[in-house]
Amino acid sequence: MPDTAALIDRIDTALERERGALLELSHRIHANPEIRFEEVQASRWLADALEQRGFVLERGLGGLPTAFRASMQGPGEGPTVAILCEYDALPGLGHACGHNLIATMGAGAGFALGPLMAEIGGTLLVIGTPAEEGGGGKIVLLKAGVFDGLDAALMLHPANVDQAGMASLASVKYEVAFSGVPAHAALAPHLGRNALDAVRLVFAGIDAMRQHVRDDVRMHAIITHGGDAANIIPERASMTCVARAADAAHLHDELVPRLRDVFQGAALMTGTSARVSNASHPYAEILSNAPLEAAFERHATRRGRSVTPYAPNGPAGSTDMGNVSQIVPGLHGMLAIDDEALPHTEAFAQAARSERGDATVIDGASVLASVALELLTDPAALAAVKAAFERERGAVRAA
Ligand SMILES: [Zn+2]
Ligand SMILES: [Zn+2]
Repeated sequence: MPDTAALIDRIDTALERERGALLELSHRIHANPEIRFEEVQASRWLADALEQRGFVLERGLGGLPTAFRASMQGPGEGPTVAILCEYDALPGLGHACGHNLIATMGAGAGFALGPLMAEIGGTLLVIGTPAEEGGGGKIVLLKAGVFDGLDAALMLHPANVDQAGMASLASVKYEVAFSGVPAHAALAPHLGRNALDAVRLVFAGIDAMRQHVRDDVRMHAIITHGGDAANIIPERASMTCVARAADAAHLHDELVPRLRDVFQGAALMTGTSARVSNASHPYAEILSNAPLEAAFERHATRRGRSVTPYAPNGPAGSTDMGNVSQIVPGLHGMLAIDDEALPHTEAFAQAARSERGDATVIDGASVLASVALELLTDPAALAAVKAAFERERGAVRAA
């Protein structure tokens, strides 16, 4: 087996050499925020930078113009490890989820580990995954087979803590459009059927469900169209409705059928009809992998981070990395760029462009490259990761 410590030293030396290029790239993506599926510049800049460093590039992967796969093949047979980049921004808020850092931590890992692949077997992939914020780009790529044959998929997300994993919820997002009958609201209201009333009744139905769902369930909605004029009975009204739960099985088997009954019930009560469509691919919860989390903790600590334990049942959002982690052993580690700020705030957007954010690019790239290196060079480490994956999957199925 190769001398891992010496290779990790070379990873860190390479990152010092690439620091300027990586931070410039991070700042450039931050200054040019592009929302889901529109990350034309960010994906090109990342792909170009990897290509310049000897990676073989496939662009427009899985039918997504802003997805890419950069491959670096070592000699002989060996595992395939993927590092995932996200680079979409939030509408109106710019890089308030810090995906410019996810992008450059991932690219940096490629910059640093790529040159070592000639000495170690296997394949290193850096995969550009668009539209994490509500578009489910990774799920499109999963369906297109982009994650087939991988031994592990690794990514890190900026946060206000250093943690080896993230609590996450499975989620669905529906667009519900009600159609009624328009009428003059004063002259002939009896001829109308009110689509806005149906939307209001969905809110009432959801509120009535709340007392009778598990504590981990979250349901939240907005009205996206509520009519055109107050003196016309609204013929059309629509809403976006999100439901989440700790696991996809509970969400899809228990919760979603009740939610659909609420949609249909609201239509029945108002004499309207409901059309329900998926506003996003359903997100699954993250399947945690203890050996990958332990490897993250070791290398984050080596970089001077103080990794704190996380509560898998703690406050949680949702990510399309959950779907990947159900199919391939996955890591979704967290590195602090601020002590206070939470994602999706102005303060977090500033932290993503701060000195501490910059330091996190280099730390994160080092951690990702080092964890990937261990999986590529140490068959026992990879076997432990795979065994943990099968165990977790079995436990989820049994539950
Ligand atoms: Zn986000
Ligand atoms: Zn994010």
